Amino acid sequence: MKPELNDFSIFSHIRLNDQSWLITESYGYNPGIPNSYTHLGLVEGTEKVAVIDSGTAGTAGLRRYIEEVILEGKNKKPILCLQTHNHIDHMSGCMQFDERYMHPLELDKEDFKWQTNEDRRLLSDDADLVLFANFDWDMIHYCREHYYKVKPTVEDFKPIRDGDLIDLGGVTLEVVHLPGHTKGSCCFYDAKNHVAYCGDSLGTVGTPQAALERNLKVRERFAPDTMMFDAHGGLRRMAQIDDIIACCQEVLAGENLENDREAAMGRLPWRYTKEKLGIPDNRPKPDPTMKRMEHVYRSARVGYMVKKEP
Ligand SMILES: [Zn+2]
Repeated sequence: MKPELNDFSIFSHIRLNDQSWLITESYGYNPGIPNSYTHLGLVEGTEKVAVIDSGTAGTAGLRRYIEEVILEGKNKKPILCLQTHNHIDHMSGCMQFDERYMHPLELDKEDFKWQTNEDRRLLSDDADLVLFANFDWDMIHYCREHYYKVKPTVEDFKPIRDGDLIDLGGVTLEVVHLPGHTKGSCCFYDAKNHVAYCGDSLGTVGTPQAALERNLKVRERFAPDTMMFDAHGGLRRMAQIDDIIACCQEVLAGENLENDREAAMGRLPWRYTKEKLGIPDNRPKPDPTMKRMEHVYRSARVGYMVKKEP
């Protein structure tokens, strides 16, 4: 029998160290649609708590899950929400928190209309949630009734920029601007615990030159043993960043540009689902010279499962 759904059903977490946790917001298991889960970070200082990203917010339970389940009802500190970028699967729960921060290049009024559109988020037949939940209609109906409804405006955010330090008391998060996925995409780096919460900012998007610069910046700014969490792809290590750097350099030098069939397959399940629904997929097809880079990025992904604490 399926367990009954509640506002915490979409959340699970693991402890990373004394001060931090990785939260997973998940609507079901669909290996073809990586956005079926989104990783959020949680860091607790002596003065403040920070949550990194706030998910699709298919339920209104994120803040309560953090305070009741993870912090065991003991938290009296304000909770800041640090947004890696403004996309619907990262920003929809942000108004539950006491203050919000994001890079100014993400604070665009027109873009916010699209990023806070509830039809696109979860109400329409081809909403993101329908695909994230892999057509689990119990989950979809529950979320449509219980989703978090308060929408942010650009005025709700304080701007943050590359190099800014967010001091939580005894632990500090450094803002690392990694444009590519979006213009203002940022990573939050905890230099004390060697953890970086990266949203969708890692990887090979953009031109090979832009991907190279971004990955070189990661190499330069983070300690070599940093655990880098990709919001939809799991844990990355510096060896994988080195692999991407080497690949970008090869592509720029015109070496090893063969069309990798496996890499092209990476995007197929999503397209297939959209086609099955009769929805045209007009997303641009990747440039063939990008395929090898994409393959390195995808094969670098380390799959792992996150379990709820008993
Ligand atoms: Zn995302």
